[in-house]
Amino acid sequence: MMDLPDITLSELKQSEYWTPKTRISGNTIQGLTCSVCGFVGVGWAYLSAPYSINCNRLNHCGARTKTLDLLDIRKDIEKHFKPTRQDPQRPARAYLESRGIRQALKGLKFYYQKNVRNSGTGAVMFPIGKDEKGKTVANGRLLSPPSGVGKTHNSGSTSGIFWQHPGIEYDPYSPTYVVEGIIDALSLVEIGHQAIAVLAAGQDPKKLDLARFKKLVPAFDNDLAGARATKKWIDIYPDMQPIMPDRGMDWNDLLCSGPAEDVKKRFSESLPRFLVNAQLALAGSAHEYATIYHGFFGYPPGIFVHDGCTHFAFLKKRGDEARLVVERCGRFTLKVVSYRKDTSNPENPEYRYHLEIQPKGSRPVQTAASGRDLATPRGLKEFFLTRAKVAFEANANAATAIATTITSSKAPRCFSTP
Ligand SMILES: [Zn+2]
Repeated sequence: MMDLPDITLSELKQSEYWTPKTRISGNTIQGLTCSVCGFVGVGWAYLSAPYSINCNRLNHCGARTKTLDLLDIRKDIEKHFKPTRQDPQRPARAYLESRGIRQALKGLKFYYQKNVRNSGTGAVMFPIGKDEKGKTVANGRLLSPPSGVGKTHNSGSTSGIFWQHPGIEYDPYSPTYVVEGIIDALSLVEIGHQAIAVLAAGQDPKKLDLARFKKLVPAFDNDLAGARATKKWIDIYPDMQPIMPDRGMDWNDLLCSGPAEDVKKRFSESLPRFLVNAQLALAGSAHEYATIYHGFFGYPPGIFVHDGCTHFAFLKKRGDEARLVVERCGRFTLKVVSYRKDTSNPENPEYRYHLEIQPKGSRPVQTAASGRDLATPRGLKEFFLTRAKVAFEANANAATAIATTITSSKAPRCFSTP
């Protein structure tokens, strides 16, 4: 029976990224096409685990493209891995493996449920316990949720219930990370840590019986819901020292970012930064945020978001003294959705940015900006106040900081902040 690496390799061989130049050399596949820069023959992958195409043009591209998404293998996982008589849970198992969860499958209880809520897609479900009527409570996630369909699925109520790995013996005195979802918890277990999942960011910590865990560490997502959840836990347990992953990344993204051994090492080395991520999310004021940031990284944060508003922090030198100055740029946050070079006038090519602006306390606005809109503080002020219609506290510093951030946004979402 073909497993995940075999199917990935076979799909890769049939794809446009495998060219006449492609060859197998030891444990690597060389000469693949990079899907990001499009250069033929510059990518390589591991033969035994071909889950990413790594671009050799390090200074120009260096992209690491996940093949399971690129080749739609995760999306079509139920088609590639149909349940069998010997392995009725096969689609769910393949899904977990596609998320980098392999060691942590040992002793794990899960099952495959097909066509959940008539969505046309199945789910991996984790049984958690029984409710008062003796019915099994389970929480899980859809393998390939169609757009507009929620990715989680519950059977029974998970209020007051949390998940822990049934196959590991928890040491009460070692850190146990508290995360929202089971996939995140499994991702931390995979790299050798203890974790429990509280199944919903809004779960009330007071309703959970956690007495056996003596060293709980909140480790929620680095977003608005995660910050709220962390605050809730800290309000009840002020001695806890929460951590958060880097912005725009969850623990599973971290797990999938490289071989498990590397990730294990990187997690330990990054713990001080993960602690600071949580402190930044909990900062009581923009000035406190900038001070924590400057104290840890040794340089000011530049442009950042606090409490739904965009700020800019810089060092103002006077003689030998440098003072940290924090200015508010506007009562909104902003995200670069995409950008492209407009060459319709070849004499005068120009970049166009698709932006999403989220005014504090109201609905997000989608708008487009040109490089010209952003080129001067005056252009930017006009753009925000007339076309985007959001409060923009124009000064030269704020304008330059925002323009620089938008135009240097290599990847969409990079400015996506709570
Ligand atoms: Zn490339």
